Amino acid sequence: MINRDRIVDTFLQLVQIDSPSGEEDALREELQKRLQALGLTTQVDDYGNLIARLEDGAGEYFLLSAHMDTVEPGRGIKPIIRDGVIYSAGDTVLGGDDKSGIAIILEILQQIKEKNLPHPPIEVVLSVEEEKGLQGARHLNMSALKSKWGLVLDTGGGPGKITRSGPSADQFQIVIRGKAAHAGLNPEDGINALAIAAEAITRMPLGRIDDETTSNMGIIEGGTARNAVPAEVRLLGEARSRNNDKLELLSRIIINTLQQTTARWGGELELEHVHNYRAYRLPDDAPIIQAVVKANRELGHEPVLRDGGGGTDGNHYNAAGIQTVTVSSGQAAVHTTNEHLPIDDLVGCAEVALKTVLNMAE
Ligand SMILES: [Zn+2]
Repeated sequence: MINRDRIVDTFLQLVQIDSPSGEEDALREELQKRLQALGLTTQVDDYGNLIARLEDGAGEYFLLSAHMDTVEPGRGIKPIIRDGVIYSAGDTVLGGDDKSGIAIILEILQQIKEKNLPHPPIEVVLSVEEEKGLQGARHLNMSALKSKWGLVLDTGGGPGKITRSGPSADQFQIVIRGKAAHAGLNPEDGINALAIAAEAITRMPLGRIDDETTSNMGIIEGGTARNAVPAEVRLLGEARSRNNDKLELLSRIIINTLQQTTARWGGELELEHVHNYRAYRLPDDAPIIQAVVKANRELGHEPVLRDGGGGTDGNHYNAAGIQTVTVSSGQAAVHTTNEHLPIDDLVGCAEVALKTVLNMAE
């Protein structure tokens, strides 16, 4: 059902085109050519996302999505095959996150074309800057997409892994302003921004809040000299939950703590609060889940429904009403120089994805 040699070749070629986040141009050009050769119409949006459509077919549009960018160190990748597993040379990531997903999408389109398989109309979205907090998907014009449901090919493991939910994430960019003064001569004239930040941090809920909710203050910077009362401190933090109500409450507590503490010290607070992406949870009887479960069973894989702890482009699709599950593309040990891709998993995941697409034509 899948051409093993061809999908491996495609993958090896793709990972040798550098595409760190923000530098996806060369890869996008190559992919645009390949998609056009397969009979798809293509367009690039203002943010650099590549959108392509196979317009013939029966039924609802089916979305196939992956991201083009890779993390560092991700330049000059030299893939090596050892015992049926593809590795990098050890000094870079492999780029299987997420070029395994792209290779699967291209192979699905090849199969449909050369075997003339009955299929639904297909919409392909290859995003940029996914690794920078889903920026490409965040900037997509969702109302221009035609898909009703689909797959995001961007998680680890062999076939059978189906992620049906994802968390919301809020980000905080905080500036606390106090008042500078000489620490030895007239400290009473100053307001210590660092002390305000310290007190606020110890008063706010941090770490694991419950099984679906977390928060973190990750960066603190500020101050100018040992003998100066610091006038300004900057903080970067985040909060996540798979439950939007819990996240809203947690974010409000964090913000209140910052406001009250700063006010009590007589300082000033500047706060930017961004809803980076929103949680989703597809019901187990959603047609896309049923289709991917059926495809796994038909291929002899036991489907495992999982709840995701990280965001994927699927958060944005689901928020826009496109029912999307994230499925494995075979990638393993991602974001490390030990990243690898077992060829059996790549092929198995491609078979599941192809069968899922074809099931939706029925
Ligand atoms: Zn990824």
